[in-house]
Amino acid sequence: MKTNSPIQEIVFNHKNSVEYSISIKRDDLIDEFVSGNKLYKLRLNIESALKNRDETIITFGGAYSNHIAATAAFAQKKGIKTIGIIRGEAHTVLNPTLRFARQCGMELKYVSRAEYRLKESIEFQLKFLSSYKNAFVIPEGGANYLGIEGCKSILDERTAKFDYVFVAMGTGTTYAGLVKAAYEGQSIIGLPIHKHDKLLDDILKIDPKFGAIHHHRHQIVSGYHFGGYAKYTDELLDFIRSFHEQTTIKLDPIYTGKAFFWNV
Ligand SMILES: *Cc1c(COP(=O)(O)O)cnc(C)c1O
Repeated sequence: MKTNSPIQEIVFNHKNSVEYSISIKRDDLIDEFVSGNKLYKLRLNIESALKNRDETIITFGGAYSNHIAATAAFAQKKGIKTIGIIRGEAHTVLNPTLRFARQCGMELKYVSRAEYRLKESIEFQLKFLSSYKNAFVIPEGGANYLGIEGCKSILDERTAKFDYVFVAMGTGTTYAGLVKAAYEGQSIIGLPIHKHDKLLDDILKIDPKFGAIHHHRHQIVSGYHFGGYAKYTDELLDFIRSFHEQTTIKLDPIYTGKAFFWNV
């Protein structure tokens, strides 16, 4: 995995207001298909599966989950089989995310939304997981302890000079890794991209010691979800368009668009 992705400084002026200068760690350039933080979340999980000699990785996600695509691609490179448990019904024509996952050899199994909600339960696990010997289970969004630990290496010597580091939050796994790896004096600001406001509790369930590390300088700033997960407004799309025109960088309306919007 390439970890020396460039840090690019951009200057941006939204609607002729104040000019902003922001440095961006271009982890999106690590892989053509898979956004960078997904690989950081998976790295230690896949290493662990290899060490255990597990033959199969099982993971979960919605039909547009980048985590599903990333798991399929990464595990294929390492020669591990993958099974994706997908929320919702099967469609005869796969969307680009699932098509990519299939091309990477992932076996897709669809479960109803009701059943998907029970995926952490013993009954579900017995039904779906017991038929696979030597399977390594990665939770939805790569949200486990190894996921958090893997995200620590997103920060390095080059990022140490920045006082504030901003990151979009889905599960909060990436945010937690950044907080754990932050230098003294560095603040990590996490922007949830949905309405769920219990992200810190979610992180504490995975990593109970996180509370002691999560001091006042680090912050989860709610209120930039634009209506909820994968919801957007004209104002957000307008911002993304204008950012692209000025910087040639394409933000997405789900994660990076919302996180960058907060800055302007
Ligand atoms: C998936 C994703 C996130 C969310 O990561 P979590 O670890 O689930 O919080 C944030 N930003 C980008 C660009 C992503 O692709």
